[in-house]
Amino acid sequence: MSYQVLARKYRPNSFDEVIGQDHVVQVIKNSIEQERVHQAFLFSGTRGVGKTTIARLLAKCLNCMSSDSPTSQPCNKCESSISIQEGKSIDFLEIDAASRTGVEHMRELLSSVHTSPSVSRFKIFLIDEVHMLSKGSFNALLKTLEEPPSHVIFLMATTDPEKVPKTVISRCLQLNLKTVSRDELQEHFKKICEKEGIKSDDESLSLVAKSAEGSVRDGLTLLDQAIAHGNGKLVANDVKKLLGTIDDSLIHELLDSITDGRKEDAFKTLNDIEKLNPDYEALLKDLISNIHEVSLHQVLEDSSKEPIINIASKMDEQYCQLIYEIGLNSFQKIHTHPSPREAVEMCLLRMLAFQPVQNMNSGETKTQKKKANKAQIKTVKKEKPPINKEVAQESHGINSSSWPALFNDMQLSSFAKNYFGNLSFARLNDQKIFLCGSKDQLDIPEKIISEFEEKIKDKFGNIEIGLEEGISSSSPNKINEENKIKDIEKTKKELSSDSDIKDFLDEFDGEIEIVTKIKN
Ligand SMILES: [Zn+2]
Repeated sequence: MSYQVLARKYRPNSFDEVIGQDHVVQVIKNSIEQERVHQAFLFSGTRGVGKTTIARLLAKCLNCMSSDSPTSQPCNKCESSISIQEGKSIDFLEIDAASRTGVEHMRELLSSVHTSPSVSRFKIFLIDEVHMLSKGSFNALLKTLEEPPSHVIFLMATTDPEKVPKTVISRCLQLNLKTVSRDELQEHFKKICEKEGIKSDDESLSLVAKSAEGSVRDGLTLLDQAIAHGNGKLVANDVKKLLGTIDDSLIHELLDSITDGRKEDAFKTLNDIEKLNPDYEALLKDLISNIHEVSLHQVLEDSSKEPIINIASKMDEQYCQLIYEIGLNSFQKIHTHPSPREAVEMCLLRMLAFQPVQNMNSGETKTQKKKANKAQIKTVKKEKPPINKEVAQESHGINSSSWPALFNDMQLSSFAKNYFGNLSFARLNDQKIFLCGSKDQLDIPEKIISEFEEKIKDKFGNIEIGLEEGISSSSPNKINEENKIKDIEKTKKELSSDSDIKDFLDEFDGEIEIVTKIKN
């Protein structure tokens, strides 16, 4: 016997088998039982949640011959039910609007509307991906929807209801299908594995449910693959390899290292993760959602996961917000990086660079290091004959370390501040300041550039601006942000060592949560 894929084998034959769409099923059942069936339905929802499945079930309900009128529980035995299920009913026409967008197709279809159904109660049209129809097709359809013959029912399905004309929507009963929750999916997959005699554990089922992202069909396809991969059983490690997902425990390890500022450990964990051949985009997504969990727990104390609770207790709340932003930013730009792994690395480096505890602890050694580096550079420079560029650089007092302060001093519009504040000073060359940043960061509107050029000339005289691609590691915005965090940490420390405040906190058994700067 040939193998039937799970998505097909477990396509629901009755409303009881539909997963996660109780609200929609109830509306349909009620309207059938109360004999108030609409003549046009619009099913909307993302892919794989069951739009056409439910539409086909509804068609069976309407045309089932086991009773004298439509029934909410089709028999699945009469000729009408079976022919609909097998896609052979002459009174149930399925049209894929994506491949038949043109008005001539629609006219041809609608020409049959006025003839009575051949054998069934109703003539039913199912138009899938209805938003793909052309304007002319929608107009033709609308005319029929305005006065449909009583024996005709239109079922429409779409992933994009925004693109369906309001005039059409207003003539339909619109039913919005939800994405199916992870728990519901996991439960569903568990039952299927049991029926199929496949050994499975909760972890692998949960992984498949997670990757399905709310789609029953996608989930079943993954389950098929996972079963084939595991030679007839589901093993978590195999599933992980197949899906390119990684353990939450590794993500927790990573987050823990970041929280403590343990750089080497963070990159060691990343190396461990690399061995699993991960999908770096998914990894970043997981990292962000774990930070989100930490942040939620800091406010609501709602997590039951030991590692999350632990990280939440020691991570600074503001730092948590900041690394969430950093993660999100990296995630949005992951496709602009030469390699996804690089994007994740840069993301970790940024998170670590802003680590408040680590910055305070190693503050001294860092400055010492910098000084040492500078001294080295100076000795090297001394060996070379002085060149004009450097003279020019010094004459204006502009260099990479003075740049952020000079920039902050300029009277710029908030737009210019935003755009140019993200760029780092690269070099000064022949009366030209070169600033660098990523391709995205250099995409600055013409108007803002000219504003900036004007302000630069006001401040430094005849100096031009050059923009070039490069890594912007010490931009004014970044340094301001860093200083802000350091400032807050410092104030927090000072406040908590103040004896009056200490007494006050003891009295009310409180703690300092947020420090806000008040402007005079
Ligand atoms: Zn039937």
